[in-house]
Amino acid sequence: MVFAHDTEAALVAAVALANSAEEPDTLVSTEQVGEFIAEQGYTGRFDGDRAELDELRELRPVLRRLLTSDRDEAVGLVNELLREAGALPQLVRHGAMDWHLHAVEDERPFATRIVVETAMAMIDVIRADEMSRLGVCADDDCGGLVLDLSRNRSRRFCSTACGNRAAVAAYRARQSG
Ligand SMILES: [Zn+2]
Ligand SMILES: [Zn+2]
Repeated sequence: MVFAHDTEAALVAAVALANSAEEPDTLVSTEQVGEFIAEQGYTGRFDGDRAELDELRELRPVLRRLLTSDRDEAVGLVNELLREAGALPQLVRHGAMDWHLHAVEDERPFATRIVVETAMAMIDVIRADEMSRLGVCADDDCGGLVLDLSRNRSRRFCSTACGNRAAVAAYRARQSG
């Protein structure tokens, strides 16, 4: 594990949400919001309505900017996002989750909780000077974000689909060369 468990979970979820904006957009219905919640194991308030979906969609470029900015720029964004949301870090324990940080109440809108959780996670990334764990997919045609939590920093592609496409292209290049 590179970061604390809740930091890693928050980063994974933030990257997944930001990457849902890549074509074809995979966050266009409230059903897809439900799937995202289930996949990422979120608890707390969910409205399941169009307004919540729109807020999440609008949050995606904000997350993308935060996750791809350089370290000093990320500091400014993190401080601004936490201040705007009135974040107050508290250690909590619920369900199967051991002690971890929440910085806004469970009753706050889902998009607010995600942006605060991501900003809190970025505090760890910035302090550890591990911004290089975040990048853009090595596939030239893909803008997906990559979160590399591997021990040997070997992750280059945003998805297995992109990794497989690159492997096939490399294989073809060898065959023809
Ligand atoms: Zn929690
Ligand atoms: Zn990709």
